Amino acid sequence: MMLIGLLGGMSWESTAIYYREMNLAANRALGGLHSARILMHSVDFEHIQRLQHEGKWGESARILVEAARSLKAGGASFLVIATNTMHKLADEIEEGSGLPVLHIADPTGEAVVNAGHKKVGLLATRFTMEERFYRYRLENRFHLDVVIPDDDERADIHRIIYEELCHGTVNEASAARFRQVIDHMKWAGCEAVILGCTEITMLVSAANTALPVFDTTALHARSAVSLALQGELIGLKD
Ligand code: GLU
Repeated sequence: MMLIGLLGGMSWESTAIYYREMNLAANRALGGLHSARILMHSVDFEHIQRLQHEGKWGESARILVEAARSLKAGGASFLVIATNTMHKLADEIEEGSGLPVLHIADPTGEAVVNAGHKKVGLLATRFTMEERFYRYRLENRFHLDVVIPDDDERADIHRIIYEELCHGTVNEASAARFRQVIDHMKWAGCEAVILGCTEITMLVSAANTALPVFDTTALHARSAVSLALQGELIGLKD
């Protein structure tokens, strides 16, 4: 199995879920006491989130490229950037580190298409919902019709992510707000919803929503393990 390079800490709450999901997936595939081969560089998220909100993406790119280079130097075969939002910098990180990035939107788009959906809602940080880098990948590669919540809803989702979920706080009022937004997306004709922020899975489960949800954290983590198991076939170095 190849060594997975995990760029984590954004936030560490969801990186902990990645770690668990990757090991569960490796164990499901290989049995026994097998677990995933992972090398992680976990950043200080206070600094990263401040740079995000100040629009200093170049400085974030510099930090993440340096972290990714350390994963390459440690022998990682490819990179998993354990956040949707920082895929805004996926190209810079890939080029700067020389390691291929397993883009989080790809296993997500594939799962949505395989389930037969065309029109999907996207719940995420403001950056991921409002900018082009994420939606366009889903639209162009997977021909999905991607709907984002209205402005008030986007503000609430963004606040809940940074002020609650990234601190490990899960509360019923916020879960109810997410359910309300998902109801709204159903009325707008969406067939499913993408949980396009790696912490949202802590709050929203498929059981209590009006639409099927696609959890980017689990999809990305499992896809990383499949790639690590099969990577030789597509020419990645072990
Ligand atoms: N983990 C989140 C995401 O998937 C938000 C935190 C971040 O900005 O990286 O987008």
